[in-house]
Amino acid sequence: MDNVQVRESLSLIEKDRKYVWHHISPYKEEAPPMIVEKGEGSWITDYKGNRYLDAMSGLWCVNVGYGREELAEVAAEQIKKLAYTPMTNSHKSAIELAEKINAMLDDEYVIFYSNSGSDANEVAFKIARQYHQQNGEPNRYKIISRYRAYHGSSMGALSATGQSLRKYKYEPLSAGFIHVSPPDHYRKPDNISVEQYNLLKAREIEETIKFEQKETIAAVIMEPLITGGGVIIPHEVYVQEVERICNRHGVLLIIDEVICGFGRTGKAFGHQHFNIKPDIITMAKGLTSAYLPLSITAIRKEIYEAFKGTEENYHFRHVNTFGGNPAACAVALKNLEIMERENLFKRSEELGKKLLNGLEELKNHPNVGDVRGLGLLAGIEIVEGKETKKPVSNEKIAKLIAAAKAKGLIIGRNGDTVAGHNNILTLSPPLSSTDDDIQFIIKVLKEVFFCE
Ligand code: PMP
Repeated sequence: MDNVQVRESLSLIEKDRKYVWHHISPYKEEAPPMIVEKGEGSWITDYKGNRYLDAMSGLWCVNVGYGREELAEVAAEQIKKLAYTPMTNSHKSAIELAEKINAMLDDEYVIFYSNSGSDANEVAFKIARQYHQQNGEPNRYKIISRYRAYHGSSMGALSATGQSLRKYKYEPLSAGFIHVSPPDHYRKPDNISVEQYNLLKAREIEETIKFEQKETIAAVIMEPLITGGGVIIPHEVYVQEVERICNRHGVLLIIDEVICGFGRTGKAFGHQHFNIKPDIITMAKGLTSAYLPLSITAIRKEIYEAFKGTEENYHFRHVNTFGGNPAACAVALKNLEIMERENLFKRSEELGKKLLNGLEELKNHPNVGDVRGLGLLAGIEIVEGKETKKPVSNEKIAKLIAAAKAKGLIIGRNGDTVAGHNNILTLSPPLSSTDDDIQFIIKVLKEVFFCE
């Protein structure tokens, strides 16, 4: 860096400290937030010229990697032609994108556009409640979700979230959200098979439905696998049993694909590993690879039909200004075209296997309790000891993350909030990562665990 760049960088840091309220982490004088200048492929460069492999794709979202000029071009073209129209109207990109998403799903869905994952989940909850009202079951308003899951930051989505550390300062939240525990194979009792354990966990949902009076339950919401809560992957019997339970009791099944969608787990959508047909599916992040904000709530045609009557009562009274923004839809279409052209879902599956194989050796470390993943999504559970499985302290996790960063690798941390620790390191690199990128992640993590 020359002197002018150094001065510019220092002044940015100064202004950042003064004017910007960062998400989640408190400002730390000794470790100010990295000011990122550019991105290319899986790599980002900060203002000081340091390069890092972003093994979290930002917040699990830059699926096609950074620096795709064709996405910039398509956004510019669309803005020049039509910058905006509300989704009370329609436009070509929104229509084509809705058609495209349908072609990727296993049933017929109608697409409702919003801006973020939280928005998409709010829409899902409101549709579920209104659907039951219009079907003559006005008492069905409760939503069941799982502890440890994250579903967003707005009041409804946060109410569905099962991570108490994120919630307790903002309570009371919305009424009618109930939580059950998810299957967590790493902490399963020894005397029971994986299938039995998963069935028991699914039946916890059925018991909850009965205890709460089934005619009060509107929906169950879950991710195909819990991502932000620590990469907790269920056995397929769990997901299929939950679907059966929902069908048996007239409860809608909402699948949150905000992270798992668009190739993250090696298929177009995470739920496609389990051969189920959700009633409602929410999507964001990888939909545009985060080049522009856009989210979708996909509603099964049958449910949509209940909103089509001529009576005003039947209207879904929900609007948001930016949802379905033309440039965002155009970028989403081009993003999906890139994924198809470069066969990125398959690539995610193949690279994911290489990543997990490479990380296998970490299990020899006394503090690595478990290494797990699906597609290009992996979690490394860090514990005090393999016998006790006690999560390590937040300080120890912070040290591991800092050690990786010092070697040019950005990884995530996510949590077992039951124990109050964020003791699971997470990896979610761009699906377009090269073989060398994946080897770099493995190499750095081995050094962090075995050479420090
Ligand atoms: N659902 C899941 C599974 C998520 O991981 C997130 C965000 N990390 C959300 C919903 C909320 O998305 P957003 O931050 O775009 O509101």
